Amino acid sequence: MAPPPNGMHELLEQLETLEKTANLSASINDVQNAIDLLTAARAKIANDPQTAPITLAKLQGPLRSTLEAAQKDIKPVYSGLNKYGRALDKKFKDKPLPPTSNDALSSHPQLINRAIAMHLLREGEFDVASTFIREASQHPPQPEPTPNTPHPYNNLSWEKNMADGTFNSETLQKQFHEMYHILHELRQERNLGPAIEWARERSDVLEARGSNLEFELCRLQFVCLFVGHGVDADDDDLMEEVPLGPMQAWEYARREFGGFQRRYAREVQQLMGAMAYWQNVVGSPYRRYFYNDAAWEEVATSFTREFCSLLGLSADSPLYIAATAGAIALPHLLKLQSIMEKTRTEWTTQNELPVEIPLPPAYHFHSIFVCPVSKEQSTDANPPMMMPCGHVIAQESLDRLSKGIRFKCPYCPGESHPRDAVKVFL
Ligand SMILES: [Zn+2]
Repeated sequence: MAPPPNGMHELLEQLETLEKTANLSASINDVQNAIDLLTAARAKIANDPQTAPITLAKLQGPLRSTLEAAQKDIKPVYSGLNKYGRALDKKFKDKPLPPTSNDALSSHPQLINRAIAMHLLREGEFDVASTFIREASQHPPQPEPTPNTPHPYNNLSWEKNMADGTFNSETLQKQFHEMYHILHELRQERNLGPAIEWARERSDVLEARGSNLEFELCRLQFVCLFVGHGVDADDDDLMEEVPLGPMQAWEYARREFGGFQRRYAREVQQLMGAMAYWQNVVGSPYRRYFYNDAAWEEVATSFTREFCSLLGLSADSPLYIAATAGAIALPHLLKLQSIMEKTRTEWTTQNELPVEIPLPPAYHFHSIFVCPVSKEQSTDANPPMMMPCGHVIAQESLDRLSKGIRFKCPYCPGESHPRDAVKVFL
């Protein structure tokens, strides 16, 4: 996830307190205890009505102390909420909410619901997601278009599946369940097995996407075997190890790296080179492969990205990105609006913002490629292709220029064969 924009740290701190200590779990227990006491007493009286007076008398003391505990346990929740409220006021002091006159989303409440449901599913909040989806389809929101606001995407089929309850959350839930299982094995158990198996089953698709995931996973497996125990082993341990680890790594490489020779000859060669330094990898040029604490998080991120893109989804939740980008853009838009009101000008370009919004680099998406040769926008049938020199042109331009034989890049002296060009995924 991208780091939060400035000024949000205090809010996040308070939010963390709410989640960790100022939550309702103690109070829920207290109330459950009270319910248990009452239920037991009712059962006893129902069983033998004559015991009613004594059962009720005995109930009073325990019930009172349970309720007192509930009162006591809810105090930190109140104080946490107060502090959070104060932090919110401080952050958004004197900042008016945007007026609803430009609310383009008011005509698409189903899309918002769908985005929320997708966000919950991909965050692994399966219970919350299914409750949300059920309630959203039981009470479908009615679009209330804002007058004078463009509604460019009035494509009802997008929204229909949510309204009809045919939004297939079960399949998605199953898929994300698998993703979280594999991530858990990677991050918590340091077990590469399920991830490697997943990548191997999709080897062709991943390779066609230009993904290095399978190799990255197997390389980490090699390193784990080499060091004998996790990558964060002490330097001393490694020095005293009998060469069992390196031997196992060697066997693993002989067994598994064959298929990687073509695409990763250099990398495989380097790993094999490291074998020569097995007694002192720390002091060798290969140290960075073996002592890289970030390696596990890197493969986990890489796995999440590939998993989501095979489902046709971006690696980060679009709702999270939209909300964060929106929060960054809002002050600029409010300022723009007040200027327009003062000068009585109108915003005339419908699909373009009249001001630059300074979004962080991670929020710059280049989803459109225009071929510098043909000046045409790329499509699935005419995708961007990168030549070995690094220049990118559209497939059709490549075909036209090369005529299937070696040709010179139109932008540099580099010569190459069209079959060496690789498809670029944006
Ligand atoms: Zn070139």
